[in-house]
Amino acid sequence: MSLPRPMLSSTSAVCFLALALPSLLFAQAQTSILGFTPSAAAREGEIENKFKAIPSPDEERRQHHIFTAEPHVAGSARNNELARYIADQWRNEGLEDVVIRRYDVYGSNPKSTFLEMTAPVHYRAILRELPVPGDPDLKNKSISSAWSGMSASGEVTAPLVYAHSGNPEDYELLRKQGIDVKGKVVLVRYSNPYSYRGFKALTAEREGAAALLIYSDPAEDGFKKGQVVPKGPWGPEYHIQRGAITYDFMVPGDPLTPGWASVPGAKRIPVEEAVSIPKIMALPLSWHDAKPLLANMDGPVAPDDWQGGLPIKYHLGGQRVRVHVKIEMDNSTQPYYVVEGRIRGAQLPDEWIVLGNHRDAWVFGGVDPSSGTASMMELTRALGKLAKAGTRPRRTVVFCSWDGEEVGLTGSTEWGEQFADELRKKAVAYLNVDSSTSGPNLHGQAVASLAPMLVETSRTLKDPSGKSLYEAWKESSARERRETKQSEEVTDSNLADTRIGSGSDHTVFLNFVGMPVLGLQFDGPYGVYHSAYDDFFWMNHYGDPGYRYHTLMSQLWGVLALRLANADLLPFDFASYASNIRQFVNELSKGKDLSSLDLKPILDAIDDFEIAGKRLDQSANRALAAGAIDPKLAATINHGTMQVERNWLNPDGIPGRPWFKHILYGARFTYAHLELPGLTEAVEKQDWATAKQQAEILRQALANNTKLVNQLNDSLNGDTVAPGE
Ligand SMILES: [Zn+2]
Repeated sequence: MSLPRPMLSSTSAVCFLALALPSLLFAQAQTSILGFTPSAAAREGEIENKFKAIPSPDEERRQHHIFTAEPHVAGSARNNELARYIADQWRNEGLEDVVIRRYDVYGSNPKSTFLEMTAPVHYRAILRELPVPGDPDLKNKSISSAWSGMSASGEVTAPLVYAHSGNPEDYELLRKQGIDVKGKVVLVRYSNPYSYRGFKALTAEREGAAALLIYSDPAEDGFKKGQVVPKGPWGPEYHIQRGAITYDFMVPGDPLTPGWASVPGAKRIPVEEAVSIPKIMALPLSWHDAKPLLANMDGPVAPDDWQGGLPIKYHLGGQRVRVHVKIEMDNSTQPYYVVEGRIRGAQLPDEWIVLGNHRDAWVFGGVDPSSGTASMMELTRALGKLAKAGTRPRRTVVFCSWDGEEVGLTGSTEWGEQFADELRKKAVAYLNVDSSTSGPNLHGQAVASLAPMLVETSRTLKDPSGKSLYEAWKESSARERRETKQSEEVTDSNLADTRIGSGSDHTVFLNFVGMPVLGLQFDGPYGVYHSAYDDFFWMNHYGDPGYRYHTLMSQLWGVLALRLANADLLPFDFASYASNIRQFVNELSKGKDLSSLDLKPILDAIDDFEIAGKRLDQSANRALAAGAIDPKLAATINHGTMQVERNWLNPDGIPGRPWFKHILYGARFTYAHLELPGLTEAVEKQDWATAKQQAEILRQALANNTKLVNQLNDSLNGDTVAPGE
């Protein structure tokens, strides 16, 4: 998936004349790169220039066309065929150890879905997306009807209630109006404000509703935003946002193997014990199908901010409109396939940079995820070409094509669980690209220790506008902040988004394995998410007609991988981490009485960690500036710095969600980012005993990492400081 973010109303004004600018500026040898000695930086600059010259818009488009040619939902024959296609391509490109790994998971496929209004008038929902002129793909017979992944099966006829966005506060308001949803069918809209549909399902289930209908209101992604397909990028009347409602905020992956890999023959828990399987029926609707229901509702008029973009008065309902819902799912076990390949490191093969993108799509996956898949295929072709020509990365670069991301982050979770021990020993970082492109605006996410190298890397790439990617990123980021009324100025230290929730394949690596992660996406106006209209036509008309941002993504993703793979000292910035953690802690007390909790020991521990991080940074810079570093010493430092992220894991996990082990990063049930998850949730509940416990766990982890970083600093100085200095 990949979360929709607040959309900019305008795309950046691309100046085509600027394309003629000499690209010399971006092809110069780098004189300094974080983590490199000067001579290694010069060599790295040459490698990067060779690499950046390979990905081409024509190839991006060709690959994109292959992946978007047919619907390829998780578990489908087409998606499995694409797995074999990727494996073949990777072998031809020179990747090594290419394997297809199989996971047998709890399946969730629709046998049939049905919705009709039985009173006051009859209306049978079409649950289909009609073709538009100019786009032949929309006539494809294998486009699915409306369905929600992991919906329960069942049948009910009951009154319909409109519950706005389906968040807990919406049901509070209904209760105040005397409207009970128990046993009724609830109609909600997708995002006002955005919350993950699985959270809407859990909330409706807890409220005792019999079924949940989720529709796309034109105020959010349709004609109220701008021109709709085929005249513009927004969602047309019939577009249906499919999606899973899996409770993967409790535990992602196969619901029957929580915490271990669902390899064939693995132990499985009974379905009744699986906390991530919803017990409620759910169905997504286009506004075409939702409109007759809304138009016939009685009851109190809905509040102003519950009114949507349709030209009708929205009512809360509860009496007059009755609907009949029938959903039949096939939950038999099915195989998902993860494709894995690598370019073995020339010098440090047991240190891994892992890159991944999911392959499965709700329908064609124009943006989500096939834009990312195209970018990945161009990236592997380019790195494979360099390796064949003898330019191999120092460390190993591992590539993965995930399956079943859309269902519950399933493929990546199972793979991460299967190789967790090995990853904890060997992995440097995980770099995720889900959707690579739906427009020109870069959104770069990274754990705080990797944010500086992401920003640095953006300076060496050229945006299609002719500016550096860094300049383009800063401008779109400033514009977005203005439009969403955030007061914070854009600076180098806040340009990368260091708040990481869930909703894509980085989750297992960050929250379960304890790896630093980074996520990249170019976005823009996009109203066809998870619908059939998200296809090749859409990309070629709106998202990225020239495939220049796809190409730039291959370059950006690849240069980041190369820098991590080739660095003399891994470019983790722990002072940056410390200042981010301080910000997270300070936010805990915003508008809250924290007199029952003493944060001083944590703040002191953060200061110590920051000092240690700064000293290590200075020592590393000094050592790098002095030239070659003894390989044994470099290995000590690098293995130590890799350990820092692992040390943020609490083996017991966060309270109530033991699978999620990271104490700095977590996600809310809505998928929104949640910093210091254990501590924050305890503070929000005013559960001071748990808060104190969680605060102590955080303080201890900070102290451990300070000690580790100080030791690394001592090792570095023991070797590099001349006697008598
Ligand atoms: Zn996706």
